[in-house]
Amino acid sequence: MKIQLENYVCSVCGKKDVKLWRPYMSTSPLICAKCAEERQTPREYSEKVWQKSKDGKWYTGKVTGKKIPLPRWEVNENGKILTGHGPGPKGLPVSMTDQLMICLEDVSEEYSLGGIVVIPACPSDMGFWGYTSVPEEICNWWTDLPTR
Ligand SMILES: [Zn+2]
Repeated sequence: MKIQLENYVCSVCGKKDVKLWRPYMSTSPLICAKCAEERQTPREYSEKVWQKSKDGKWYTGKVTGKKIPLPRWEVNENGKILTGHGPGPKGLPVSMTDQLMICLEDVSEEYSLGGIVVIPACPSDMGFWGYTSVPEEICNWWTDLPTR
């Protein structure tokens, strides 16, 4: 595995040797968890009433129409945050995501139009791997990097 680490630096604070994210459709700027947390956009979810199916095998969520703000997120050691979908039915684990919603208007004029999604920046020979095509080896390398 060959990863060009000299350029693997947070574009905002200059931090090295940590997990970095990049905009979904772009290769820059790169941003670390701490800088992303400071720039997170407020999130809300649609409240749902969960009902168990007759055979008890699954739940269906009925949207009540109410929007509820989610607490601010913090990236965990695996580089993940809680998804923006709100709580699931009781007893089911809440799912995690490595996609962060942030606002980069203070970092780049290109992103002055509000919140964008950033994804793990996994270096390849050509730049970065696409979100769904990261080889397991690189995926593990990214996950093993310190988050902060
Ligand atoms: Zn940073």
